[in-house]
Amino acid sequence: MSSNHLILDAHELKQHYHVKQGVFKPDAVVKAVDGISFKLEKGKTLAIVGESGCGKSTLGRMLTMIETPTSGRLEHLGEDLLSLSKSAQATLRQKIQIIFQNPYGSLNPRKKIGSILEEPLVINRQLSKAERKAKALSIMAKVGLKAEHYDRYPHMFSGGQRQRIAIARGLMLDPSIIVADEPVSALDVSVQAQVLNLMMDLQTELGLSYVFISHDLSVVEHIADNVMVMYLGKVVEQGSKEELFNNPKHPYTLALLSSTPQLSPDKRRQRIKLQGELPSPLNPPSGCAFHGRCQHANERCQQEVPALREDQTDHLIACHAVEEQRIEFSHAV
Ligand code: SF4
Repeated sequence: MSSNHLILDAHELKQHYHVKQGVFKPDAVVKAVDGISFKLEKGKTLAIVGESGCGKSTLGRMLTMIETPTSGRLEHLGEDLLSLSKSAQATLRQKIQIIFQNPYGSLNPRKKIGSILEEPLVINRQLSKAERKAKALSIMAKVGLKAEHYDRYPHMFSGGQRQRIAIARGLMLDPSIIVADEPVSALDVSVQAQVLNLMMDLQTELGLSYVFISHDLSVVEHIADNVMVMYLGKVVEQGSKEELFNNPKHPYTLALLSSTPQLSPDKRRQRIKLQGELPSPLNPPSGCAFHGRCQHANERCQQEVPALREDQTDHLIACHAVEEQRIEFSHAV
């Protein structure tokens, strides 16, 4: 990967929280994100996948600097965001915007759309009222909203339109990166496709890079260039979309994929039922955190944390069974 194309470079990012457990017990440490590294190229989409509670939203909040990581390095165009002054961070933060799952919850119901969109400009730009309105109208047009929507309130819109408004607000400061946290999960399937198509059109038009957080692999298959699968704060598999979908190897990825509906019969997979629940991050299992739910687990898995290692070029997997070639793959199913 040419460094010219690299827009975000995360190295060993960690977010550890100290949790009080009562007067007589020492604090517990929750490792919500535990040493995650990735590279995001300009104009590309990295999808972060996993069950709720795996740390993907915490990672999203760190990338947008809503939360400061406990440790690690996060470079934007070669500049380490975490060692910048507060004011330099604030300026750079404008370049990395976030869109949330629930567009209604994130839009002030008492404000008209025009005012919601112009708010970031009031705070961060010195523009006249007329210039702000012109910018809002131009972004509204880009996301498929009409000029007459400018004076309406959020409750007057459908879920899909509200997500368009949230996307428009994310674009007001001309960001280069959008972190989209489950942006279509609250929408009907037919509307999901429209919003995803809009996001892909905007990516082409504006050269945006996306970090797309989702629990839904069928959505990810639509939009991602690269995929990172997370389990209890760690990456278990990472690679190009083609590798992840055509040649998945980690037992957790295989289970997630097998529960994703496939229309095409040649892509249907043998159903692997995920046993049990995601363990509590307060009390994570020893060794491989997935061992209690994995049909390939053995003694080594219970004791030794598997390292994330390259299986093939740019395809990383953290699994003892894959390393020991104990799993038979039949990806032609
Ligand atoms: Fe399963 Fe062991 Fe691989 Fe973990 S390391 S996914 S428990 S086989």
